[in-house]
Amino acid sequence: MTTVRTRIAPSPTGDPHVGTAYIALFNLCFARQHGGEFILRIEDTDQLRSTRESEQQIYDALRWLGIEWSEGPDVGGPHGPYRQSERGHIYQKYSAELVGKGHAFHCFCSAERLDKVRAEQMEAKQTPRYDGHCMSLADAEVQQRLAAGEPNVVRMKVPSEGVCVVPDMLRGEVEIPWDRMDMQVLMKTDGLPTYFLANVVDDHLMGITHVLRGEEWLPSAPKLILLYEYFGWDKPQLCYMPLLRNPDKSKLSKRKNPTSITFYERMGYLPQAMLNYLGRMGWSMPDEREKFSLDEMVEHFDIQRVSLGGPIFDLEKLSWLNGQWMRELSVEEFAAGAQKWAFNSDYLMRIAPHVQGRVETFSQIAPLAGFFFAGGVNPDAKLFAHKKLAPDQVRQLMQLILWKLEALRQWEKDRITGCIQAVAEHLQLKLRDAMPLMFAAITGQASSVSVLDAMEIIGPDLTRFRLRQAVELLGGVSKKENKEWEKLLAAIA
Ligand code: GLU
Repeated sequence: MTTVRTRIAPSPTGDPHVGTAYIALFNLCFARQHGGEFILRIEDTDQLRSTRESEQQIYDALRWLGIEWSEGPDVGGPHGPYRQSERGHIYQKYSAELVGKGHAFHCFCSAERLDKVRAEQMEAKQTPRYDGHCMSLADAEVQQRLAAGEPNVVRMKVPSEGVCVVPDMLRGEVEIPWDRMDMQVLMKTDGLPTYFLANVVDDHLMGITHVLRGEEWLPSAPKLILLYEYFGWDKPQLCYMPLLRNPDKSKLSKRKNPTSITFYERMGYLPQAMLNYLGRMGWSMPDEREKFSLDEMVEHFDIQRVSLGGPIFDLEKLSWLNGQWMRELSVEEFAAGAQKWAFNSDYLMRIAPHVQGRVETFSQIAPLAGFFFAGGVNPDAKLFAHKKLAPDQVRQLMQLILWKLEALRQWEKDRITGCIQAVAEHLQLKLRDAMPLMFAAITGQASSVSVLDAMEIIGPDLTRFRLRQAVELLGGVSKKENKEWEKLLAAIA
């Protein structure tokens, strides 16, 4: 019998997402329950958006939660390399194989031509899709154009009629009509593969037997299935996990809920409680108990107990569960956990330089700098009264700064300042007009240490959280404003 092998295949393009941890957890449980292996692969073929920092954050966040993998870019293994950017030659080979077998073809169409076809199809109320223009080029012409170095992509052929039956471990057989599938690009002009080719080739070469992935991938499953057929490979068992949702049932998004695992770490949640909560997303213990450890989850794991109603990721529920875990720690464990979290000399050393000149006794540190050890800070709405700006303008300024900071990748004081300044100037204001508002949102106080230093120290997660709370306190952002302000944001350098 083949050993069960599952994987998580994150793209390192931003903060480590709770959705990644959720899918990783279920893959891990499934593998462990069958005495199999769980591995990690980095899908970094999107060169523009992938970063090594983000990759490292994924490792750190998963390890913080207690999720371990037996093969991966950082731990090695017999099926490496485990980073797709290092497997270029492999995809080249398999792409050529598909072209050779007539399942894929070189496409030389320009972006302009594709745009034009698309516009015409939209106009005619058809689903926009590649029109097959390069599919029937004569072989000699293709060779000649390739030899001349003409830019091209490789596209897969797809049937235009009938349905693809996707066998899903949770839903049974899902039928998806072929006419919804485009002739997917497999290799881009830069010679790098797209998700579809790289994912199928790697899952096959890495011996993956079961793929548990998010439901958002279900609509494109036929393309993956077809690729397995074209190559003549056995396909893994497929399982499309229900998507995590905000309390209003919309898809979990950082606009409504913090989605970065690092946020939960900075807020002082316990990793074991967080993992427990993720295990409760759409899944339950046979005896329905709420609190369980990873080992208990593995012991009782049964994928069929996943229910398809969208699981709701709710901070209040998570906090309740965290409280249960907190109270069961021994006093020693509790103290050690708090120390690891923020009551340690490393963190104090970051704060000390900003506090030292502002106190006369140590006993003044906590009243002055307590916000360094807080999650939200509940500022008084009065602190946001501004001499120059109307309340709506204050709200707008704060929201724009929040968005700007959400996009900031390198969290350094100068860059943070740059973001605030760019927004302020765009609204014909000075940096110093924005600062009292930032002060109120971040520290919750009327005076304290320098807020720019404070933001650097508390980090991106808590900074954004507090700004979001301030915007909410001031009345939130309506749908209409959201649209208008996003346009403004796009114009800010
Ligand atoms: N790289 C994809 C992602 O970031 C992997 C999806 C899959 O599991 O196939 O979600």
